[in-house]
Amino acid sequence: MNASVPPIAPERLPALLAAMPKAELHIHIEGSLEPELIFAMARRNGVSIPYASVEDLRRAYAFSNLQSFLDIYYAGASVLITEQDFFDMAWAYLEKAAADHVVHAEIFFDPQTHTARGVAMDTVIRGLHRACTQAQATLGVSASLILCFLRHLSEEEAFQTLEQALPLRDLFIGVGLDSSEVGHPPEKFARVFARCRELGLHLVAHAGEEGPPAYVWTALDLLRVERIDHGVQSTRDPALMARLAKDRIPLTVCPLSNLKLCVFPRLADHNLGALLDAGLVATVNSDDPAYFGGYMNDNFLQTFQAVNLHAAQAWQLAANSFEASFVDAPLKRAWRDRLEEAFARHA
Ligand SMILES: [Zn+2]
Repeated sequence: MNASVPPIAPERLPALLAAMPKAELHIHIEGSLEPELIFAMARRNGVSIPYASVEDLRRAYAFSNLQSFLDIYYAGASVLITEQDFFDMAWAYLEKAAADHVVHAEIFFDPQTHTARGVAMDTVIRGLHRACTQAQATLGVSASLILCFLRHLSEEEAFQTLEQALPLRDLFIGVGLDSSEVGHPPEKFARVFARCRELGLHLVAHAGEEGPPAYVWTALDLLRVERIDHGVQSTRDPALMARLAKDRIPLTVCPLSNLKLCVFPRLADHNLGALLDAGLVATVNSDDPAYFGGYMNDNFLQTFQAVNLHAAQAWQLAANSFEASFVDAPLKRAWRDRLEEAFARHA
């Protein structure tokens, strides 16, 4: 623990959690699409969706597992057609992130969800990237893009997607792996990740959300990822916990997502505290905030209350988010300074 963390009175902790600078490293931009925006885009693009109203759609957000969520998620994404749609979606997220004092976001996007519907790769990436550029200029939020392959599709299709995206290589910083985990282990994508590594792209993968610790091992050893997305099942394997701690492999944990998708029965049962106690570089993130009941500060506030975490863990989680981000050391140091200032203000 950093010696400079000043004592924080418990009643000041919620304000500190909200105001402290933080980085978000696990956000699927299609999962930030709020029902209101889905209906607005459906109207302006003439797309029909199988829900009568905003309320009707919101009522459908009672998920029993990852797949029940994904079915609605792909229906929602079907309204995205133009570059402006992709810009508007990302911009709405970035404004909320700025309000939550997110200083940096590494944003996942799922191009195959769109190219399969006939939307051009160029439309997707340019719309999202324009929002990232504008966020830096007008919100003071730095933002970059990570292209995710859908793991329920084939490695061949992942290669085709990579090929389509390579003309826009400068507009994204890395690749990830998402969608239905169980039955689609990381090793299915070993060759395409090796190719991405040669291209100098950063590598991350979802593993150990619903899937077993074995998927975290293969994400590390066969895909050679730099971060694990979720990874909460790792606590079932002491040798894996030791490896993650020794190599300082960050876990991008998403507590409200885990609650909503029944990975933990109650938020009070979440193992975030145990991950931090074991010395892991765990971070807090929102995953698909429009669907899971909260953005970054909702995740921090609700989890800290449910799991009974304290100021020292708040410091650690924010510091971890900077350490785990794919930016250079001077920028990380600048964010650490702002973190110290926030703690000093709330002491
Ligand atoms: Zn995710």
